[in-house]
Amino acid sequence: KLIVFEGVEGCGKTSQIQLTQEWLLSFQTSVVVTRQPGGTELGLYLRKLLLEAGSHSIIDKTELLLYAADRSQHVEQVIKPALQDGAIVLCDRYTHSTIAYQGWGRGLDINLIDQLNTIATSGLESDLTLWFDVDVEVGLARKRGGGDILDRIEKETIAFHRRVQQGYAHLADSHPEQIVRVDGSLSQEAVQQKIQAILTARLEA
Ligand code: C5P
Ligand code: MG
Repeated sequence: KLIVFEGVEGCGKTSQIQLTQEWLLSFQTSVVVTRQPGGTELGLYLRKLLLEAGSHSIIDKTELLLYAADRSQHVEQVIKPALQDGAIVLCDRYTHSTIAYQGWGRGLDINLIDQLNTIATSGLESDLTLWFDVDVEVGLARKRGGGDILDRIEKETIAFHRRVQQGYAHLADSHPEQIVRVDGSLSQEAVQQKIQAILTARLEA
């Protein structure tokens, strides 16, 4: 199963992935934790290009294509082999990030992004996407404490982050089977409990 963790900056998905991995490992031997961008050796270069050093005045369409390149490499090199081995894959961001950030955030054509996502993934969709819904101000405040190098995203306006958030809300509304909203403003323990309840129901099904 491919389980994706999504949300705006500082929504808590990375810590929740870690906790979820520990929990799953107690009864499932094979759990792979990975992320986009940056889940492969090539992807780490792409992540640096995308997120650091003012991102070299990257234009929006170029950014979109670099995310697609990262995804293509990652699906073939990491996700597909892991799924074939029967692992549960927990992925920090996937196709919905591109719809939210490059589509809703930057205003690129959503149909085009859908097509590009299909090309990059060969049509591999998540079995379940957990969307951590948290106010953008709360998330950004959390993120600033985290010490990540995120030149590009630091330059964005609060309005940009709000559009991204709207994108996630819209995606969750339009894909109720695939995308489950989790209230990211709850305590870490409470969020983890919700995740465990959702996964217990889903993985048994
Ligand atoms: O996954 P993580 O939270 O580390 O994200 C790294 C950065 O990449 C974030 O600042 C996010 O806003 C940005 N990003 C983006 N477009 C994507 C995926 C991530 O702008 N499609
Ligand atoms: Mg993170």
